[in-house]
Amino acid sequence: MTDNSGVQVSVLGLGAMGGALASALVKSGYATTVWNRSAGKADDLVAQGAKAAATAGDAVRASPLVIACLLDHASVHEVLDPLAGELAGRTLINVTTTSPAHSREFADWAARAGVAYLDGGIMAVPTMIGRPESSILYSGSADVFQQHKPLLDVWGTSTYFGEDPGLASLYDLALLAGMYVMFAGFLHGAAMVAPAGVTAGEFAQRAAPWLTAMTGAFQGLAAVVDGGDYTVEGQQSLEFSSLDDLLAASSDQGISTEVVAMVQRLIQRQIDAGHGEEGFARIIESIKQPG
Ligand code: NDP
Repeated sequence: MTDNSGVQVSVLGLGAMGGALASALVKSGYATTVWNRSAGKADDLVAQGAKAAATAGDAVRASPLVIACLLDHASVHEVLDPLAGELAGRTLINVTTTSPAHSREFADWAARAGVAYLDGGIMAVPTMIGRPESSILYSGSADVFQQHKPLLDVWGTSTYFGEDPGLASLYDLALLAGMYVMFAGFLHGAAMVAPAGVTAGEFAQRAAPWLTAMTGAFQGLAAVVDGGDYTVEGQQSLEFSSLDDLLAASSDQGISTEVVAMVQRLIQRQIDAGHGEEGFARIIESIKQPG
């Protein structure tokens, strides 16, 4: 194992995620200082070899590299605004989930304070940290990313998207958008079969392999979108994609049609605009132009 004991790093925020990030650094031999607003959360990390700082200021002063993993954008400002002077000349990597606009705003704050800044978006749950399937997205200073990549790689697979500090957050939220709509679709299906006496667990056993197989269609849809020609042969047409049966069956089961009706509306807007014979990928035009 590489000797990282000469590399000092401080972690602010020891919630479920901040604690996992700090623990992975300690296990990889980094000289890790930790701080949390409320007491008690540093104890396990100290037992593993971390140093506890009494205040956020002490933690910042302890290391040239500071990691922030707090609740949200407001809490990052609350903790770091009073420490702008202490942070000057240091490097800050903020992996707190924020919006692209908030990431850009904080990058401006860091630039004014003389802090080298990298923004991160974590595509993992705490138990995944330290494994390759944990994906962490970064944007902002390329120098900070390159210099600290070995440390960032301790947490999982690190990917850099560019100098615009909002890009990591944009990707993060775009991926979460896909996840939430998929979860809603799965739960809609579970609600449909529930009146037939099927448990959500039984339905999940069928839904997981089905939806996994359907992700194989992403690249085909993407090729049509990127090519800009929705008339390409071999696609399922919008007219053929009517969800009327799905809506009727949902109503017959006595459940809400909101989830499916949302997709039906996107389809219908393109049919109404005269594109019914074109491929399903065309609904991205409904999404791009708010109705
Ligand atoms: P937790 O709720 O477990 O922890 C929140 C942390 O923020 C705690 O350390 C808390 O301190 C601190 N905090 C909250 N408000 C303030 C404040 N005003 N001043 C100082 N400290 C504050 O959240 P997680 O650790 O799970 O999440 C941290 C970040 O990581 C979030 O932005 C989250 O979106 C992101 N993330 C989390 C994932 C997960 O699965 N957990 C997945 C991907 C991203 P205290 O203990 O004193 O309350």
